[in-house]
Amino acid sequence: MKIAIIGAGMAGLTCGGQLRRAGHDVSMFDKGRGAGGRMATRRFEQGGQTFRFDHGAQYFTARDPAFVERVREWEREGIVARWSAAGEGAWVGTPAMNAPIRAMADTLDVQFGTRIESIARAGSGGDDGWWLIGKGAPDTRFDAVVAAVPAEQAGPLLDPHSADLADLAHWVASAPCWAAMVAFDARLDAPDTISDALPSDSPLAWAARNSSKPGRNAAQECWVLHATPEWSRRNLERTEDEVRDELLAALEAQVGPLRHVVMSSAHRWRYAMCEKNDTGTVWDPELRLGACGDWTSGPRVENAFLSGHALARKIAG
Ligand code: FAD
Repeated sequence: MKIAIIGAGMAGLTCGGQLRRAGHDVSMFDKGRGAGGRMATRRFEQGGQTFRFDHGAQYFTARDPAFVERVREWEREGIVARWSAAGEGAWVGTPAMNAPIRAMADTLDVQFGTRIESIARAGSGGDDGWWLIGKGAPDTRFDAVVAAVPAEQAGPLLDPHSADLADLAHWVASAPCWAAMVAFDARLDAPDTISDALPSDSPLAWAARNSSKPGRNAAQECWVLHATPEWSRRNLERTEDEVRDELLAALEAQVGPLRHVVMSSAHRWRYAMCEKNDTGTVWDPELRLGACGDWTSGPRVENAFLSGHALARKIAG
């Protein structure tokens, strides 16, 4: 089959790779400028220096045998490593979180910078496959379409064609997350990760010395701060500067006086972590339309992998 996959994060790329190995012709589309999805890495040039921050997923764990095997392959390729600061089972991409995503995208036909707005049935009777609609979308008919995007973005793509599939996506809600990225001019007197010790009224859910991850520039003092879902929800429409300042104040309240800030930024993740997520595989064999993503099985990188894996098996029969 000629299959279009909308979304080239962990779920879409896992699904796409497996379908290609099964002999299908897979084309992938992602609205992002580069590979990562929520396993993202942001890069800033300032004062002659390059700063990098993993501002989405901080680390991932591997428990399912299929994912453990995949992570071991990545380890042999040198694109993931353990990060003990986050716990014994914690892995990160190296030299940046998006490294495994980039590696997977390199082996597939992925068109970045292409937002798919909707999909339409092809053929005079509407029964001959699918067209993708959106700026930069190809003038090509596909036999099958997979939406490998967060539930809130999958719903509108599925809705006009299958109320049943769309309902599965509409049932899921994702929590937002404000992230601040900050580089200091000198080392803070603080552990590499701060989460459990945070008071319940802190806006912060997590703070980590990004530069302590393996393969990063350890000469820099780069931090990623994540707000709690509740605080992020309440402050969703505030400006990046306001959010950054509040999260820095919360860090200071936790670790004492901060050092001089060399560069800083903030990013709003509208759909960070899915809160309901046991939909199971989303696939209509008649329509040849489906969806995958962490939201079909759980709120983590491993769930995204497993969802792509399960959907590919279902499609390939
Ligand atoms: P995504 O990675 O979101 O991929 C979807 C892709 O679809 C994106 O690349 C997007 O650009 C693209 N897209 C969306 N709409 C369209 C469209 N219309 N057209 C084209 N492309 C489109 N997980 C952990 O395991 N551990 C953690 O510590 C952790 N922390 C996290 C912290 C934050 C702040 C966030 C945001 C996430 C975190 N996660 C964590 C969750 C983890 O990142 C996700 O579960 C996983 O990356 C989801 O992968 P995915 O492929 O399902 O979705």
